Amino acid sequence: MRIIAHVDMDYFFAAVEEKLDPSLKGKPVVVGADPKKGRGVVSTANYEARKYGIKSGMPITRAYKLCPQAVFLPVRQERYEEVSERIMEILKKYADRFEQISIDEAFLDISSCGDWDRARKLAERIKEEIRRKEGLTCSIGIGPNKLIAKLASEAAKPDGIKVVKPEDIRTFLEPLPVRKIWGIGPVTARLLREHGIRTVRELAEADLQKLAEIFGRRAWEIHQLALGIDESPVQEEWEVKSVSREHTFERDLEDEKRIMEKLEELSEDAWKWLKENGFLYRTVCVKVRYSDFETHTHQKTDVPHSDLEFMKERARELLKPFLGRKPIRLIGIRISGLVGLEGQKRIKEYF
Ligand SMILES: [Mg+2]
Repeated sequence: MRIIAHVDMDYFFAAVEEKLDPSLKGKPVVVGADPKKGRGVVSTANYEARKYGIKSGMPITRAYKLCPQAVFLPVRQERYEEVSERIMEILKKYADRFEQISIDEAFLDISSCGDWDRARKLAERIKEEIRRKEGLTCSIGIGPNKLIAKLASEAAKPDGIKVVKPEDIRTFLEPLPVRKIWGIGPVTARLLREHGIRTVRELAEADLQKLAEIFGRRAWEIHQLALGIDESPVQEEWEVKSVSREHTFERDLEDEKRIMEKLEELSEDAWKWLKENGFLYRTVCVKVRYSDFETHTHQKTDVPHSDLEFMKERARELLKPFLGRKPIRLIGIRISGLVGLEGQKRIKEYF
């Protein structure tokens, strides 16, 4: 039996901003274009902002009209990517197969759970770990295939879990509007409406001949989806090659002690990840970016180690030549040459 989970972070960009600046909590927050400039769209709005009718993709000027008192923030992609990377690392641990589909969404094949109750428990653990480590909420949909899992996570929003078992597919799917089916955009939905097909049930019951006139060769596939049948696999491209941690100082820094301390902290962080995922490492690489954006990396490779002290020592040694030249804006560490378990297929350990 296949069990697929779809994990989707709740209002991700706005949630990251809220976490970084707790004073935003409870206020409407809109991440996107600058409303004063009058162009561009809403990227993400938190639930407070959504109460005013603000949605992602909406022109920013319209959002401003709906709620001028909202906090409007620019899209700070780098921040979100950093958090996303850490979240994806959490998710990978729980998956037999893992497929990231956007900055804040992924499919996990969790078939080795064996049954729906354990799948739900696994989802609870995932949510708990993300909440504990990142202070963020997500919604998780679970079903026998990707289509159902994705629609289930949408139904679970915000901060929920929804399990749709095979016997519940029809009840779950049939009342939904046709545009919820993959491959049906607004244009096709309008076309279907002209043929009296509005819901998934109507699509599932439609004559294939008629659908072929609308969809051409895609008719069969779309009809299958409307029946809740989706064989597409969770496509795993993932292979751990390295683990990186970076830090940008609030102010460019010359204080060597503080820079070293930060580097050690990043080393500890990377080391924890290696330990949790059962890797040894061979290569330590240190990255330094100065206030003028001049950037250097310096690395050294050894026999496989598991030792934190060795990693810190190596990192200090690599950083040293870069100190005392100009203020430093960013430092980072990348650990590669990983040896050991693949860091996945570990679901069984959790039960
Ligand atoms: Mg999301």
